[in-house]
Amino acid sequence: MAHSIVVGAGMVGLATAWHLQEHGVEVTVLDRTDVAAGSSWGNAGWLTPSKTIPLADPSLWTYGPKALIDPDAALHVPFRMDPKLWGFLARFAAHGTTRAWDRTMAALTPIDKLALECFDELTDGGVDSWTREGPFVVGFAAEAHARGFLREIDGVIRHGQDALLERLDSPQELAPMLSDAVTVAYRLEGQRFLEPAPFAQALADAVVARGATLRTGAEVASVGGGSSASVTLSSGERLSADSVVIATGAWMPKLARKLGVRMPVQAGRGYSFTVETAQKAEHPVYLPMQRIACTPYQGRFRIAGTMEFRGPDEPSQPRRIQAIINQARQMFRGIDLDVRQDEWVGSRPVTPDGLPLIGATRAPGVYVAGGHGMWGIVLGPATGKMLAEQIVTGKIHPAIAAFDPLR
Ligand SMILES: Cc1cc2nc3c(=O)[nH]c(=O)nc-3n(C[C@H](O)[C@H](O)[C@H](O)COP(=O)(O)OP(=O)(O)OC[C@H]3O[C@@H](n4cnc5c(N)ncnc54)[C@H](O)[C@@H]3O)c2cc1C
Repeated sequence: MAHSIVVGAGMVGLATAWHLQEHGVEVTVLDRTDVAAGSSWGNAGWLTPSKTIPLADPSLWTYGPKALIDPDAALHVPFRMDPKLWGFLARFAAHGTTRAWDRTMAALTPIDKLALECFDELTDGGVDSWTREGPFVVGFAAEAHARGFLREIDGVIRHGQDALLERLDSPQELAPMLSDAVTVAYRLEGQRFLEPAPFAQALADAVVARGATLRTGAEVASVGGGSSASVTLSSGERLSADSVVIATGAWMPKLARKLGVRMPVQAGRGYSFTVETAQKAEHPVYLPMQRIACTPYQGRFRIAGTMEFRGPDEPSQPRRIQAIINQARQMFRGIDLDVRQDEWVGSRPVTPDGLPLIGATRAPGVYVAGGHGMWGIVLGPATGKMLAEQIVTGKIHPAIAAFDPLR
């Protein structure tokens, strides 16, 4: 029986492990910490193909410079001499054009269209968790604020997705926590959400129940390819297999750069916390101007936001949580933002060209799966399915052809 080692027990690594098992491959999953220890834990859990779009767009040129001097802006870049970071930002900003947006959107659309059915495959196949339909409530304080969001939705439709959007007269009926400051609102249909950490844990449990070995507290120090692919742990222990998949999120360059994956992966750190709501939250809420994404979570309401370009292992910055609160305060009612639980920081694995990295490295038998930026949860299962097919059959599915890690 073929044997694969998957490094990283986040959504992407676990989904890859599950699909390798579908092909009869024996799997070992290694994580330096635990299941969902990276960005797969406290994210917003949105399964929104209609929002799975390029991060860089032309608005970056007006928003970016303002954000650099506004301490409450969602985008945050620490002022420091860091040539790698500024090099990444220059390449990222170069994609802030309409042409680049269209090119990236064209590449994302095929996988976006497959994303949701890949969740059904997992839950129908024994993953004991759920995904739930929206609607998503999208709110603005003024008519003019909705323009950018509507333009994005038009772009998504132009590229071939259905995105059903309907104007709401009284958004508070669906989202009672929205204040009267929200004067313009839409409902977005055809999208889903989940609770990310419980889903990832259920996926890990299913992978183990199907015979995988899951080792937590196992940090991989290096990966090598060849007649037999191998990993060396920080402890010095060496494991070999027919193939190795590096699915280490924002930490990917540490292991993959030496194997020819030159595309940078920068941690785009986001923060979240949960609060109690006066009335139970039933639907996700999106505040595009404030760049805040909210989701019902374990009977509470998770509020997530910010994009802070720092290293993935740097300490959490309480000022970033405060920035979310300052942005959110006037848009909500019946929520005490000063009584928070589950405060969390996680690192989105962001590539400068807005495309994931899925496929073979230069080292024979070694693959990478990651770099999904804002959208590794919704795209995780489809990624795992197509990469497993590539590893086992050698065929590259057209939906991941644009994500060649050696580009
Ligand atoms: C605030 C916020 C909100 C978000 N909202 C959404 C959303 O609504 N929908 C969506 O689709 N996406 C969302 N995202 C993005 C999403 O969370 C990520 O794209 C996704 O979790 C990436 O998954 P991953 O498996 O690639 O990486 P991770 O989940 O980061 O997993 C990587 C794993 O690798 C392990 N690891 C690292 N290095 C090593 C090593 N050397 N050896 C062994 N193990 C190692 C880590 O411990 C970690 O468990 C959000 C992100 C943030 C921060």
